[in-house]
Parts: sequence; C-alpha cells; structure tokens
Amino acid sequence: MDMIVASDILADLHVHTIASIHAYSTLRECLIEAKEHNMEYLAITDHYYNEGSLVQRKNEINCMCYIEEWVTPNRYGIKVIGGGEFNLNHEVFKKDRLMKRLHWRLLGTHSWFVDRKETTLDQLYQYFVDGIGFCNAFAHIEREISELDHKAHAGGLDEPTKKFLTDMVHLAKENNIYLELNEGTLARHKVDDIERLEFWLRLAKENGNFISLGTDAHYCELIGNFRRSIVLLNKIDFPKERIINCRKDLLDGLFVK
Ligand SMILES: [Zn+2]
Ligand SMILES: [Zn+2]
Repeated sequence: MDMIVASDILADLHVHTIASIHAYSTLRECLIEAKEHNMEYLAITDHYYNEGSLVQRKNEINCMCYIEEWVTPNRYGIKVIGGGEFNLNHEVFKKDRLMKRLHWRLLGTHSWFVDRKETTLDQLYQYFVDGIGFCNAFAHIEREISELDHKAHAGGLDEPTKKFLTDMVHLAKENNIYLELNEGTLARHKVDDIERLEFWLRLAKENGNFISLGTDAHYCELIGNFRRSIVLLNKIDFPKERIINCRKDLLDGLFVK
C-alpha cells in the first residue's frame, strides 16, 4: 500500500491553547506553528471543565463555541475547526445548544474525572456509549486504563483490556465515530500505552474503521508534527483513505451541517 508521508497530513485535530488552563500557547501562536508545519486545517480542542461560577461556566462555553467565528478569516489562511475535548462523566455538555456549533468534538479517556478505584472497564465503555450522537471521535482510548478497575485486571494488555479495546473498535465503527491516533501517546507514553495503541490500531485496520490524527499539543511547537504516528501507520500499513487528516473532502465535510 501507499506509504504515508508528512505532506499527506493536512490537519492537526487535537490542539490545546491557554484556554485549557494547563496548556501554554495562545491561539495566534498555534496558528503560526500550524502554518509553518503546512497544516491547512487546525482543530482547537480545549478541555471542557464546566466548573466555577455561572459566569465562568458561561464564559467557557462561549470561548469554545464562537472560536470559528472570531478567527475566520485569519492572515495565515488556516481553516480553524471549532472543537473541544470532553470528559467522560459530564452530562451537561450534551445539553447546551451552543455546543452544536462545534464541528469537532473529542471524547477523551481521562481517569482524572472519574473515581479511579471504583470505575470498571464496563462503566468506561458505557461512558463512550453515552457520548454517541455528540462526539466525532474517541480520543486516546489506550491511555490510563491501567489505573482503573483494579479488581478486574492488572493493567497492560490483559484479557479484560483486550475486550474493552475490541468493543471500542466495534462501537466506533457501528456509529461512524473516528478513533484517534494520538501523537502524544507515542511521544510521552506511560507503561504499556503503546502496546495497547498498536493492538486497537491493528484491529481498526482489519475492521474498516476510520481514524483521526492529533498531536494533543499543549505547547504550540508540537503542532503538526506527526513523526511517530507516521512510522506506526506505515508499520501496520494502515490505509491512507481511512485517515480523515489526509482527506480534504472529509475535512471540508465537517463544516457542513
Ligand atoms: Zn490537557
Ligand atoms: Zn487533549
């Protein structure tokens, strides 16, 4: 099959600005870096917290939901895709009508926001089921699994974990949800993350899933650098036509309501 090269990748679909609070770059710095790395599209996917006073919560929603309007057009000629990265146990995001303005919604595995000891892999799966109809992609599903459900599994790539990842691959396919290959997992991995990532990515290849790529940059200089993702994709011979970042038609389709 066709080798994937850096110039095939037109978009970074997972990027954080200072609006995420624990990230370090402004929107303008992100645009400049995206341009330098020849990105045509940039999805801004700040974390969504829904915390604080009513005003703070309203401001957070407004900050995310009007981003496309404020930065389009911009002098860098980047097509900015308004997005967000949502956590598993926040019901409220699905209800706010402004959220419909977001064109790229990630649902990410963050054990931070759940009770680690008490959350089982079955519950984790159920959180993703609950996100169907709201989100475009399931993000970094390989991460933080070892920290959950200690009664059922010991981490790594044991049988319960394999079952969870297999179920996730099928859930995504049946509901036309992208699975995210996260450059950050490859760059700053913890124990066993890469083993799990390779496991689901091979399954996704065989199962006909579509995937998305994101750097998960919390600092602007990391934007658009998919070096490790490209190596892995070529190693397992993943088809380019099933990567949204390589498909102008699918990327432009995100803007169509
Ligand atoms: Zn973050
Ligand atoms: Zn992220």
